[in-house]
Amino acid sequence: MNGKLTWKCTENCGACCKLSPEEREDAISVLSNKDQDLFISMVANDGWCKFYDKSRRKCSIYNERPSFCNVRNLVKLFNISKDDFDKFAIKCCKQHIKHIYGGRSMEMKRFIRGIGQNTCYNV
Ligand code: SF4
Ligand code: SF4
Repeated sequence: MNGKLTWKCTENCGACCKLSPEEREDAISVLSNKDQDLFISMVANDGWCKFYDKSRRKCSIYNERPSFCNVRNLVKLFNISKDDFDKFAIKCCKQHIKHIYGGRSMEMKRFIRGIGQNTCYNV
């Protein structure tokens, strides 16, 4: 089954909320100066976003989160076509999840299940 996959965020993941600027240079480089400053101001000492609630694995300011936190805005930020959005977003999520939890983690399995992919560890 090789149908087009649709990106979907997985509940209780939060892997993209580890901001560690030294590892996110590509993402930071596409932001405006103002958003770069905002991004840096959000980084806690341990590299996680200070608005990430680790115990609940949720964003504590979800409805007011910066626009660059919204995965849908990757289209504009990285100048990709809407047709390429799902593929691009899935790749980004897999990279984050692999980095934070591991390529064979429960979080990766839940993400893969969520997007309706059978099995794929080709992150
Ligand atoms: S890495 Fe992807 S699946 Fe995980 S919280 Fe971020 S957007 Fe959602
Ligand atoms: S503001 Fe929310 S969504 Fe954005 S990085 Fe922080 S915890 Fe994650």
